[in-house]
Amino acid sequence: MTTWLDEELGEVADALDSGPPAFDLLGRLAAEGLTRVGVPAALGGDGGAPSDVAAAVAAVARHSVAAAFVLWSQRSYAELVVQSDNPALRARELPALLEGRWAGGVGLSNAMKFLGGIEPLELAARPDGDRWRVDGVLPWVTNLRGQGFSVAAAVQPVPGGPLPVVALRLDQPGVRRSPDLPLIGLRGCDVAAVRLQGVLVGPEDRLHADLNAWLPQVRPLFLGAQCGMSIGLARASLFAAQKRVGRREALRMRLAEAGMGLEVDVAELLQGLDDGRFGADPAALFRLRLALALHVQEALALELQAWGGQAYLEGQAPGFARRWREAAFIPIITPSVAQLEMQLLKK
Ligand SMILES: Cc1cc2nc3c(=O)[nH]c(=O)nc-3n(C[C@H](O)[C@H](O)[C@H](O)COP(=O)(O)OP(=O)(O)OC[C@H]3O[C@@H](n4cnc5c(N)ncnc54)[C@H](O)[C@@H]3O)c2cc1C
Repeated sequence: MTTWLDEELGEVADALDSGPPAFDLLGRLAAEGLTRVGVPAALGGDGGAPSDVAAAVAAVARHSVAAAFVLWSQRSYAELVVQSDNPALRARELPALLEGRWAGGVGLSNAMKFLGGIEPLELAARPDGDRWRVDGVLPWVTNLRGQGFSVAAAVQPVPGGPLPVVALRLDQPGVRRSPDLPLIGLRGCDVAAVRLQGVLVGPEDRLHADLNAWLPQVRPLFLGAQCGMSIGLARASLFAAQKRVGRREALRMRLAEAGMGLEVDVAELLQGLDDGRFGADPAALFRLRLALALHVQEALALELQAWGGQAYLEGQAPGFARRWREAAFIPIITPSVAQLEMQLLKK
């Protein structure tokens, strides 16, 4: 692990939770080599395995979920570019993404909920010659850096048919970023809405022609890396609790059990990412996402108990209040816990 991760990121974690970074966070993640993890070497990456991506996000989340969330967004968008069937777009965007000069966001919540039968698609694409004219709003997207970003989104062709996934760029006419959303935490993540008004999108902007067909291929890394946030946060919280637990035997035992349970699920996730089983069996990945969300809740509850009332006093339990806010985000990021429980029930 890098010195920056182990010695410096933790120092700025509270600041990253409460406001925009005072430094180039994305550039720093790239300088540490983290944006290149798991990208094929031939494309400028480190050639690592998919599990390395989840492990990298977890290592960052141990210190700051805000920083991990930016890394997850950047790496998930980069993965869509890597796996795109549009080599020209890949050649155009990937180098700047890996170097952290250009940010990538994934605005696929709405599309995933649409495919789960939860809500209608919010972006409409009307034919205009050999192009589409796209209108609508992406109400939440992370990593929308003011200096420049691309965001991946699925659009609903007005005549019907498969849902294309396109890359929309801040510098395209008709793309507008809102001010940062007034979040209770994770404020260093450039989370904003994107409004699209008559944005002309052509074949050069296409990431893939059919989201439904593409999802089994791209979802494992997207979701596996997202699980990295839960892993890092749960580990950080258990570690903080262990430092505080002293001689309380009952709590000690619960902490040991929680740690072992967490690592069993982590091992299963990492192995599944590398052997490719989640493409054909998304339910197994969904169950791990749910289990890891529970590990986060349990870890936070144990950290709270280890500190007792002191945890409720400002500045007494280092990082606890931030982790509590970070943990509140874990169940609601798409695919949300509620959504996955519903989808697993349908099976
Ligand atoms: C800090 C932050 C950053 C985000 N970044 C991104 C991003 O980068 N990209 C992106 O695409 N999105 C992003 N989002 C959006 C996020 O992923 C969710 O889409 C968003 O929180 C709203 O989804 P929801 O399911 O909570 O909302 P709602 O659709 O309002 O649902 C509310 C609750 O009801 C449940 N529910 C809804 N419909 C049903 C149903 N039919 N049956 C049972 N339960 C149901 C939901 O799961 C949820 O628990 C972000 C959100 C936050 C808070």
